[in-house]
Amino acid sequence: MNAAGPRVVVVICDSLRADLIGQDDTPFLVELSRRAASFAAHRSVFPSTTRASAASIATGCHPARHGLLGNTMALDEGEGLICRSAGHPDFPDRMRRATGRTLHVPTLAERLRWHGEDSISCANVSPGAAYFQDPDGHGFVYHAAGSYGPGHRPVEDPASAALKKGLAGDRAMTERFCAEIIEERAPSLAIMWLSEPDYTGHHSPLGSPEHRRAIAGADACARQVFETVRRLDPNGDDILFVTGSDHGMETISRAIDLDGLLVAAGLKEGAGSRDVVVAPNGTAATLYFAAPDSDLVPRVARFLAHENWVGEVLVGDGLARVGLPTDTAMRVAVTLAVEDRENPYGVRGYCPIVQDPSDSESKIGFGQHGGLGPNEQRPFLIIEGGGFAPGKRHQPTSLVDIAPTVLRHLHMDHDDTDGSALPREPN
Ligand SMILES: [Zn+2]
Repeated sequence: MNAAGPRVVVVICDSLRADLIGQDDTPFLVELSRRAASFAAHRSVFPSTTRASAASIATGCHPARHGLLGNTMALDEGEGLICRSAGHPDFPDRMRRATGRTLHVPTLAERLRWHGEDSISCANVSPGAAYFQDPDGHGFVYHAAGSYGPGHRPVEDPASAALKKGLAGDRAMTERFCAEIIEERAPSLAIMWLSEPDYTGHHSPLGSPEHRRAIAGADACARQVFETVRRLDPNGDDILFVTGSDHGMETISRAIDLDGLLVAAGLKEGAGSRDVVVAPNGTAATLYFAAPDSDLVPRVARFLAHENWVGEVLVGDGLARVGLPTDTAMRVAVTLAVEDRENPYGVRGYCPIVQDPSDSESKIGFGQHGGLGPNEQRPFLIIEGGGFAPGKRHQPTSLVDIAPTVLRHLHMDHDDTDGSALPREPN
C-alpha cells in the first residue's frame, strides 16, 4: 500500500489511432487533451505489434535492447528455427529455453520491486501482450489465461478468468480496476490494457459503426479510470495519469505469401524449411537465417527490394535505425508499402500484410498493423497530473519515453532506458 506517496495509473486503448480521436466518438479524450499534456508527434516502435509495444512500454527500450522482436519470432529450441507466436501463454518459457532469458532489460515491475513497491497490471489482450509487461513475475499480472503475483506465483483470479476480448470484457475489467486496484490496493503503478478498439478493428472496417462504437467504449473506460483517480487525488499532485495507445492501424489491401515467393525464387528450400524462416508481423515481417553470415542474407534482401508490395527492406544499419538488433539470427526486416487512400468510411491508409497461417483474425478490408506506415505509427498519448502543464508538445516522442516518465514521477533512476522522461512544460 502506498496511498500517500507518488503513484502512476496508465490506461492503454489498444490500436487507437490519434487521428480517430474526435468529439463524436471520444468526448473524454478530446476534453482531457485540452486540459492536459498531449503529444502530437507520438510514435510506436518497430514492429508496431502489441507484444513488442508492451515490452517497450514496460522497459523504455526498443526491441533491439529488450529482445522481443514482434508478435511472432523464430526461436531455436534445439531443432532449428521455428516461427512461434509470442501471444501464446507458453511463449515466455520457450524464449527462456531458446535464449536463457525473457526480456534482456528490466521492466517497470522489476524496477519497482527493487524499491519494495508493487505494480499491478490488468490486461484484456493476448496472453503474450499481458505477460511481456512483466514476464518474470515481479508484480501482479491479471489475465484470462492465468494470473500471477510476485515470485511468479500463480494467483487464482476468477474475475480475470471470466474476461473476453471486446467491450463487455473491457468494461468489466475497468470496474474491477477502479474499485479494487486503484482505490483499495493502491499500488505505486497500476496499468490497464483495454482490448478495444484493437479487437473490433481487426474484425471490421476502420471507421465503420462497429469500430466507432468500440472507440467510444474505450473512451468511456478511460474516463471512468480518470474520474476515479481524480476523486482520490483532486489536485493531481500524487497520482500521474497516463493514457495512450500502442500503435494505430492501416486497412488490409491484400495478403502476401512471402514463404511461397521465397521458395519460388529458389531462396528457401521448401515450405517449413529452417534455412530462412519468415516471422509474419501483420504489415511487416522479420526474416531469420540458420546461417546469418551467409550470402543468402543479401540475396534475400535484394529479392525483396524488387517486390512492389515492399515499402522498405531493412538490413544491417537499417535494422539498428528502426530499433532492431543486428547480431541475432534475424537479419532482414520488411515494412510493407502503404497506399494513402480512403477506405469506404473515409479512413486513410491501405497496406498489404504478410500471410500468417496461424492468424485467423486478419481479413482484407479490416485493420492491421506491424509496420512503419504513417497511420499504424500514430498512437496517441495524454498525460495529466504530476506537474505536467497543459498544452500540446510537438517534438517527436515514442512508446519508450513512457517508462522513464513513470520512473521520474516515482523518484526512481531512469537514465538507462532508450527513451527520455517527457517534458513537463510545452515546447
Ligand atoms: Zn496493440
